[in-house]
Parts: sequence; structure tokens; C-alpha cells
Amino acid sequence: MKKINKILVANRGEIAIRVMRSAHELGIKTVAVFSETDRKALHLRFADECFLLERKECEPYLDMAQIVEVALSAGADAVHPGYGFLSENPDFAQLVEQQNIRFIGPSHYSIRKMGDKLAAKALAIESGVPVIQGFQIDDADNIAFMVNEAEIIGYPLLIKARAGGGGKGMRLVRSADQLIQEVAQATNEARDAFGDGRIFIEKYIENPRHIEFQILADHHGNIVHLFERECSIQRRHQKVIEEAPSVVLDNNLRSKMGACSKSLVKACGYSNAGTIEYILDSDMKFYFLEMNTRLQVEHPVTELITGIDLVKQQILIAEGQSLAFTQEDLTPKGHAIEVRIYAEDPENDFLPDIGNLVIYRPPKGGGIRVDDGYEEGMTIPVEYDPLIAKLIAFGSDRPEAIARMIRAIDEFQLSGVKNTLAFCRAVMHDRDFCEGNFDTHFIYAKKNLEYKTLNKQNSDEMLAAALLGFELNGNEIFKKHGNLTTCRSNWRNRLK
Ligand code: ADP
Ligand code: ADP
Ligand code: MG
Repeated sequence: MKKINKILVANRGEIAIRVMRSAHELGIKTVAVFSETDRKALHLRFADECFLLERKECEPYLDMAQIVEVALSAGADAVHPGYGFLSENPDFAQLVEQQNIRFIGPSHYSIRKMGDKLAAKALAIESGVPVIQGFQIDDADNIAFMVNEAEIIGYPLLIKARAGGGGKGMRLVRSADQLIQEVAQATNEARDAFGDGRIFIEKYIENPRHIEFQILADHHGNIVHLFERECSIQRRHQKVIEEAPSVVLDNNLRSKMGACSKSLVKACGYSNAGTIEYILDSDMKFYFLEMNTRLQVEHPVTELITGIDLVKQQILIAEGQSLAFTQEDLTPKGHAIEVRIYAEDPENDFLPDIGNLVIYRPPKGGGIRVDDGYEEGMTIPVEYDPLIAKLIAFGSDRPEAIARMIRAIDEFQLSGVKNTLAFCRAVMHDRDFCEGNFDTHFIYAKKNLEYKTLNKQNSDEMLAAALLGFELNGNEIFKKHGNLTTCRSNWRNRLK
């Protein structure tokens, strides 16, 4: 296959910028697309060319036909979908391929197959990968069948959407009555959210950890795994903090799960980057959950412990190149943690907040990486995912990575929107987190994490500091410029 010369990035925010950076390092030109809302978005500044998605029949970043038209008129010979939006839409991958443009990701066949969670599970069983017990619901009115199957597995159970994603549409049921009640609602919800109302039932694992394996596969049959990421710190079944490696995996379990991941990837004829997600129960038994056929939000932690640029690998694979390393060449080094800084209010069940980034000064220094899509003064739009930035810390071991993360969070100056920064700081200080003693219920089990005052105080201090022209950080302002009352009254006076 030929070298890629120009990539259209069909996404926005931090991930669009992330992709453009690697493309530029490879000497490849980039094309940005943007919606009306994103006229001033940061990703436009990173691209060689920018195209407004003018037609508004649907959300512009989901408008397959329009994006492909732009790719053709810009002369792009490849499209990178990022994550979210069209990244796991097989029709989009197919449309791109039909125009002789390369889709930087797997084939539309693989996306279609693995996007159906039940088909993926069936393939996992065929490949000898353990799966969670469950059954399919073809007819939501056949209550006798449903209740009978449920009794065989035993409660609690989880109702899930076959086409599900983004933590949406899952329902926990603890009795037959609840099951009957929730199935209809789950079907409707799945239809609304994913355009596909088909649902299935799975045994609910009570205190699991979320462990996933990063894989890379080229077009020549070479497959490697790049070890695991642990993503157990979640809210609403969505990840907030991720790390690599996991504290609970030993080398034996790691190589077993790695081998399973590779056999599944082989079985679906997969190429490019992908992630196999598992649940690990309290007996250290692992079960296949799903495959994500795209670049993952939390991919940077893998990059830091392996030294491999995953986006570059995606591009090289799409060009038809062979992987330049084998499994034996790969050894993880050090420890990496990512915290997602969302414009969300941890005090209010992580509901999104929107507004202006009055102050936005990310940290710098050794072992710190910030992947973000905003600058000071920009507005977090209501239309899109409220992710402001991903803060990633690398250390020679986990304690060093945690200490660096705390230092970086303390340096981070951010105000104007409610956000998860102080919450993540509290997690880094939590003894159970530090000891590796947690599961996917961590956030809900730790309702009393001492972050609330910190959150409020930080933003007031910083707003005051900025308006007064101080360049100070956190509590320093108290020591050097009197007490908060003075700052606040000055700041209020200025605002009048
Ligand atoms: P990751 O597994 O990479 O952490 P997330 O579950 O956090 O992915 O999802 C990444 C982004 O993609 C989020 O913005 C999420 O809302 C979105 N997303 C993922 N899957 C879907 C889907 N099937 N439909 C809509 N949005 C999705
Ligand atoms: P999505 O496609 O929305 O990412 P997943 O199947 O990957 O859905 O599950 C997301 C999260 O939901 C998991 O990380 C885990 O926390 C929880 N979860 C999913 N299935 C189960 C299960 N059977 N038992 C317990 N928790 C589960
Ligand atoms: Mg998932």
C-alpha cells in the first residue's frame, strides 16, 4: 500500500489534536473539520486546513456523507475517526473505504462484528476466552423464558444493550419482578441511544475491577499486546482515572489475559489498534466484556509505559507496514496514571457544567503530559463531551506516579467551571487507592472523600488571584497576600 499524505481527522477536542500531532511528526498533512459551535476551537489551529461542516441535518461530527465529501475535496487520502462520534460506526468506515480513502482503524467487517456485544461474546467463546454467563432476549414479551433463564444464572443481573457504549443503558436487577419491569424500559432506552433496541442479560459481578488489554495488529498477521490498563475508578460505568500497569496482575495472569486478547483479535481478522475489555472478579477470575475497535481515551498511559506512539502505529498499519517489533521486544517500564478532568460537578453526581475557562494554566515539569483541547478564556460547549483535559503522570513506580500526579494537580490552575480536578487529587491521597485496594464501586463507596472544600476554595482563590494579577498557586496566596477575605473583597470590588 502507498504512504499516506493527508489525514482528515473526523473529530474535535483533545483527540483531534493528539492525532494531528503524530501525523505531523510523520510528515503527514492534516485536515480539520468543525461545527458552527467549534468556530474558535483549538483543534483548528493544529491543522493544515480547516473545513466548516455547513450542513446541519444532523450533528455535524456524525454527518458521514458531509465528512467524506470534505475528505474528497481536500484531497485527503486517509481519515482518522478518533474516539466517540463515528469511530465505531461500520457504515462510516465502509463509506470511507468505498471512496478509496483509508480508514485509520479496523475494517468495517471487524467493526460491525465486534460492535455487536453478543457476536463479540460468541467469538470470544469460540476463541477460548472466558465470558460472563448470560442470555439473549429476542422477545421481551416472553416473560416465562426470561425469568427461567434468569433463575438458572441467579440474581443480581445486568441488562445491557447489544449495541451499547459509553456506559449507557445498563440496568441492574435483583429480582424477577425488577427484571420484568426494567426490560421494556431498557429496550426503549437502547433504541433511543443506539438506534438498536436489542438487549441481553449478563450475570452482575459484584465487586469487579476493570482491566483492559491494548492490542496492535498489522495486515500481515502480526499481533502484539501492549499490556493492560486498569480503569476501575468509574462513575456511571464510565472511566475517570486509569493506570498502567494494574496493581493486581502478576506476570502469569498478565500473559494469560494477553494471550486471550491476541487469540480473539486473530479470530476476528482484526487489524489496527484495539482494546479488549475484561472484568476481573474478587477471585481474580477474568471475563471478556467487550472489544473497542478504536483508539481509547486512556491510551496515553500505555504509551508512557511502552514508549510506543499508538497513533503513529495506527497510521503505519493503515499504510500497510508491518509492525516493527514483536511481543518479545516489549517490556513495560515504570507506572503511568491518567486523570480525566471533566467539566462536571463531583458534588452533584458528576453532572456536566459548562462555561468559560476563566483561568486555565496546566502544569508542566518532569513526568507530566497534558492532552487537552482548550486554552484560557475558551468556553466548554454544552453540545459535546465535557472533557477539558487528560492529565497523565509517569513515574519509575506507582508511588512516584501518584506523587507526581498530586504535584501536577496542585500546579494546575483552573477556574470558571466546576471540574473533577480536586476530586482526583483526593483519590490520589486516599489510602485504599494508594494501596491498590479498590474496585469499580470506589467512587460511590467513597462518598465522603475530602475534596469538597478544596474544590470550592481553589476556584475562589484562583479567580481572586487572577483578577488581582497575582501569579500564585493554591494556598500560597494566603501566606503571601493576607487572608482570603482580603482577596475576596478586592476581587468583588474589581467586579463592581
Ligand atoms: P474509553 O473506553 O475510550 O474510555 P469511553 O467509554 O469513555 O471510552 O467513551 C469515549 C467517548 O466516546 C465518550 O465521549 C463517550 O461518550 C463516547 N462513546 C463511546 N461509545 C459510544 C457509543 N456507542 N455511542 C455514543 N458515544 C459513545
Ligand atoms: P460500555 O460499552 O458502555 O463501555 P461495558 O460492557 O464495557 O460497556 O461496561 C462498562 C462498565 O460497566 C464496566 O467497566 C463495569 O464497570 C460495568 N459492567 C459491565 N458489565 C458488568 C457486569 N456484568 N458486572 C459488573 N459490572 C459490569
Ligand atoms: Mg466498555
